[in-house]
Amino acid sequence: KAKQQGRDTYEIYSADLDEALSTRVTLRNDLQEAIKGDQLRLHYQPLVNADGSIVSLEALVRWQHPQKGSISPADFIPIAEETGQIVPLGKWVTRKACEDALILIERGLRMGCMAVNLSPMQFHRPNFLNVLRQILEETGLPPEYLELELTEGILMKDTGGAKNILNDLRGMGVKTAIDDFGTGFSSFGYLRELPVDKIKIDRSFVEDVTSCEKDAAVCKGVITLARELGMRVVAEGVETEEQYRYLAKHGCTGFQGYYFAKPMALDELIVWVEENAGGLRWQRL
Ligand code: C2E
Ligand code: MG
Ligand code: MG
Ligand code: MG
Repeated sequence: KAKQQGRDTYEIYSADLDEALSTRVTLRNDLQEAIKGDQLRLHYQPLVNADGSIVSLEALVRWQHPQKGSISPADFIPIAEETGQIVPLGKWVTRKACEDALILIERGLRMGCMAVNLSPMQFHRPNFLNVLRQILEETGLPPEYLELELTEGILMKDTGGAKNILNDLRGMGVKTAIDDFGTGFSSFGYLRELPVDKIKIDRSFVEDVTSCEKDAAVCKGVITLARELGMRVVAEGVETEEQYRYLAKHGCTGFQGYYFAKPMALDELIVWVEENAGGLRWQRL
């Protein structure tokens, strides 16, 4: 009886695994098409200051799958990283974000800089800086308008190498931010050495910042750390006015989250900025 049950369980598991595996294999093949074809889109989410001005826009990739509909980057970025497809995908994202940033600048929208997420594989490729220079040159976006979001993992893997690349980026005028800060295990000693412009406090600490003392302690600690190290600080995933007020009261100067704005397609974003120009004192060039 037990054996029978065991076998049934095994069969169920195996069917589930097969399905999960074949979904991944299909997605892999489809991703190839998506990158070459016209299925990827960028949405842009504003990061704001307490005075209501836009500090920057974060480019977030979306996949409009012809059969499966919209697929979240949380589901396909890991696959793209496994297969190496993140390299062409990342190039596409960077180029498109630079092109759109130029459109916004030419329309006179004061949007600060354009932030692009980078995967470890992109950052650690030997020709990474050359690829970036080429994209900036071809699109014509002044490097000061580009910001790269890196994770703690990227920077801690090979800190010596990372530091050199960060110095080169700074030399070019490109800005950098550490994304999802607090979820990795940064060595504060190395952090001090790294020429990074901004720290983004991970959403997981912001969520309960007004009700959980430990999360509040982490947020306040990171805000102080950033200030002492001469870096800017942004809280991710701000969804309520209470979170916003609390963080601002404790010295946070940058905010990103649904409370302010969701990620939007370029044309939606333009309308949103224009509609909010009065109430939120959007500064126009
Ligand atoms: P991330 O870089 O930390 O981006 C912020 C994520 O939080 C986005 O999810 C954004 O839509 C979401 N978000 C913003 N405000 C709020 C809020 O108030 N509440 C909640 N619950 N969520 C909020 P999204 O767009 O699904 O992206 C997920 C992750 O996928 C990103 O996290 C980033 O790690 C990765 N990703 C997205 N686009 C790219 C890309 O072009 N390249 C790479 N390498 N990774 C990307
Ligand atoms: Mg990010
Ligand atoms: Mg983040
Ligand atoms: Mg995050």
